[in-house]
Amino acid sequence: MKLLLLAAPGGGKGTQGERLASLYAVQHISSGDVLRAEARAGTPVGREVAGYQRRGDLVADQIVFGLLVPAVAAAAARGGYILDGFPRTVPQAVQAFDVARRLDFTLDATVYLNLPEPVLLQRLLGRARTDDTAEVIRHRLQVFAETTSPLIAYYRDRGILLEVNGDQPAEAITAEIQARLPGP
Ligand code: AMP
Repeated sequence: MKLLLLAAPGGGKGTQGERLASLYAVQHISSGDVLRAEARAGTPVGREVAGYQRRGDLVADQIVFGLLVPAVAAAAARGGYILDGFPRTVPQAVQAFDVARRLDFTLDATVYLNLPEPVLLQRLLGRARTDDTAEVIRHRLQVFAETTSPLIAYYRDRGILLEVNGDQPAEAITAEIQARLPGP
């Protein structure tokens, strides 16, 4: 199973990523986690990543690709992945598609968890991440609306978008995704 999870910040990508990965016995790859780990490692690239994340800006494509593509390719070779948070821009999606074609694998579906903005805000304000301050949250929601949300139409046009109401209990969301995914 190769799935991509798309949602605004606070939309539950991490929770569904973990649940779906265990359901389908594939690896959960969170781009935010991969990038945070690099930031914590304190490498020169990590210090750059930390700056973007602190401001709520997207990390430069070149850095994201350098860290994510090897992890995604390795997971694909082992049977699949639930990818959460990458691609996050149309150029990233186009480049990711090229890589997938070169490695001869295809995405089964992109799951879009749709939630109203007041619910997202409430959830984000209830977390304790360093990029979850009111000002940075507002900026991250704006980055999603401007830069990431065009991916909804991008994947819908390719016929692989699965839109799910993300404002339900986690168990109900997982069950709905499982029921609506194309069978084996
Ligand atoms: P997340 O954990 O998915 O909310 O991501 C946290 C932060 O990591 C984002 O605000 C970005 O700074 C960065 N990030 C995660 N995924 C990407 C990506 N695909 N492209 C660029 N930046 C990303």
